Amino acid sequence: MAGMTSSARPLLNRRLAGFGTTIFAEMSALALRTGAINLGQGFPDTDGPEEVREAAVRALRDGRGNQYPPGPGVPGLRTAIAAHQRHRYGLALDPDTEVLVTAGATEAIAASMLALLEPGDEVVALEPYYDSYAACVAMAGAIRVPVTLRPREGRFHLDLDELRDAVTDRTRLLLVNTPHNPTGTVLTREELAAIAELAVERDLLVVTDEVYEHLVFDDAEHVPLATFPGMRERTVTISSAGKTFSFTGWKVGWVTGTPELVTAVRSAKQYLTYVSAGPFQYAVAEALALPDAYFDDFRADHRRKRDLLADGLRSAGFEVYRPRGTYFITADIAPFGEKDAYAFCRALPGRCGVVAVPVSVFYDDPEAGRSQVRFAFCKKDEVLTEAAVRLQRLLP
Ligand SMILES: *Cc1c(COP(=O)(O)O)cnc(C)c1O
Repeated sequence: MAGMTSSARPLLNRRLAGFGTTIFAEMSALALRTGAINLGQGFPDTDGPEEVREAAVRALRDGRGNQYPPGPGVPGLRTAIAAHQRHRYGLALDPDTEVLVTAGATEAIAASMLALLEPGDEVVALEPYYDSYAACVAMAGAIRVPVTLRPREGRFHLDLDELRDAVTDRTRLLLVNTPHNPTGTVLTREELAAIAELAVERDLLVVTDEVYEHLVFDDAEHVPLATFPGMRERTVTISSAGKTFSFTGWKVGWVTGTPELVTAVRSAKQYLTYVSAGPFQYAVAEALALPDAYFDDFRADHRRKRDLLADGLRSAGFEVYRPRGTYFITADIAPFGEKDAYAFCRALPGRCGVVAVPVSVFYDDPEAGRSQVRFAFCKKDEVLTEAAVRLQRLLP
């Protein structure tokens, strides 16, 4: 029988048990089957800047990156990443020893966990989690310890006492994500300072996923954890071109940190993919050098999209946690008198022709996010407007 060995032992090993298929596969299949508007998976429905696409075509035609690029990434991209960190955040990095190009942020997360953790180490992470964190911690044989972000006064908050209490003598690493997917929370300067103090005091490593660094709204600001006192030497910073330039299929990501940290992560990375995305690396180098106006427009566009969808969700009856970052909105179905986000999402295409994902699957604590659903707003304005119209069918 397919999927079975003679000993009838499950094929998927114990570390990955429970990580069968992602919720996105299930919900995207549902969208396809029903023809519903897919606000489940977070990919843009418009490609990034034409000149960046052309840069990729040029690289391909000129024979740049068609063969294995250098292991750490092409020099022009590493220089562009370092220049971006300096220009935006005043962080000085040596492009030769402190920057590593990866196959998206996804590989950067996996390589960081595989490189930095011993089996049995504890990793403190904010829940709800981005879905690959739990799997990568598990693949490294480590143990995840959640600190739950809780909604209060219209947004999700980190409880600093809970964070402090989660750290034990076995804690090796804090895994942080800001701006935070799926809650849309952007950690404040004060919250980040407290995380930094804790990391220094307990001598912890920090891996920080900042792929939404350019998607912050209103009065929120993105401050990299690596800029806080005592953090540069203990922080692995991860970002990616996918979200910032709307080319999620290119899978160009990066890691920055001290030479020691970057060398450690590279040791794992070189045996995962070795290298990737040759010609795209040249194009992303050009993208990072786009004028500030690109980043300002990108942010303004998404703020408008957020408002379109948030207003539609609110008038349809959801409790909306208006995000200050990312391109996701988490909303609560409690006002409908419903409690089970999973059942709600499975029924949603039939009720109104829209697909969302249940946030409950991103918690260890099944009660914490039981009634939360996530909607992506990285879609054309007319798609969001149509989704908002359809959602009104939920009104009694
Ligand atoms: C999309 C996403 C990633 C993955 O980025 P890629 O560059 O596509 O691999 C990592 N972390 C978070 C929080 C994300 O939302």
